[in-house]
Amino acid sequence: MAEIPRLPVPSIAISGSELLFPVRRIYCVGRNYAEHAREMGGDPRRELPFFFSKPADAVVPSGWRLPFPLKTSDLHHEVELVIALHKGGANIHAADAPSMIFGYAVGIDLTRRDLQAEAKKSARPWDMAKGFDHSAPIGALTRGLPPAGGLIALAVGGDVRQTGDLKDMIWSVAEVIAALSTYVELAPGDLIFTGTPAGVGPIQRGETVRGTIVGTEPIEITFEH
Ligand code: MN
Repeated sequence: MAEIPRLPVPSIAISGSELLFPVRRIYCVGRNYAEHAREMGGDPRRELPFFFSKPADAVVPSGWRLPFPLKTSDLHHEVELVIALHKGGANIHAADAPSMIFGYAVGIDLTRRDLQAEAKKSARPWDMAKGFDHSAPIGALTRGLPPAGGLIALAVGGDVRQTGDLKDMIWSVAEVIAALSTYVELAPGDLIFTGTPAGVGPIQRGETVRGTIVGTEPIEITFEH
C-alpha cells in the first residue's frame, strides 16, 4: 500500500525569534488604496472591501530564489501590509479587531495579471490568477500593532516602482478584519494581505523584487531565468 503523505505546516518567521508563526489561511483585500483602485479602472469611493484567498503553502520567506511562475507572461507585483492573527471570531466589531492582531509584515501579492484579466472578462474565479505556487512572499513578522501611517514601497532591481503611505488605506486594518469576519469565522494563524498602493507592474525573469514597510524587515525574492 502507498504510504500516507506527511505534510509540513506552512509557517513564517517572527522577527527576533527562533519561533515560527503557523499559517492557517491567507486572505487578501482587493483595491484598498484610492490610486490603485483608479489604475485598475475602479471607483475608490463606492466599493466596499472585497476578498479573495491564497493557499497557506503559497508563503515564501525573504531571500528565496523562485522559479518563474507557470502559465503567465504578465506577472505583477503588489506590495502589501500583511496582518497575522492570534485570535479569531466572526462578526467582529472594528473596535475589538486590534486585540486579535499578533503582528505584521510586508508581503507581495504576486498576481498573474494576464490570467486575472481573462477571469474578469469572462466572469470566472480569480483563483488561478492569485493563488498559485509561491504567490505569497512574506517578510518576518514584527510583533504588535502595525503603524497607522508610514512608507510602503517596492523596488524591482533597485528601481522603485511602488510607493504609498499606510495612512492612505481606504479601509483601516481594523475595518478590514471586521468586514472579512462577516464572511468567514477568522482563527489564529490567519494572515490578511490588506491591499496595494499604486504602481503595480510586471516582473521579468531574473529580476529581484524588494518590498519594504517602515519598521519591519523587508521581503526580497529573486526569480530564476
Ligand atoms: Mn493585492
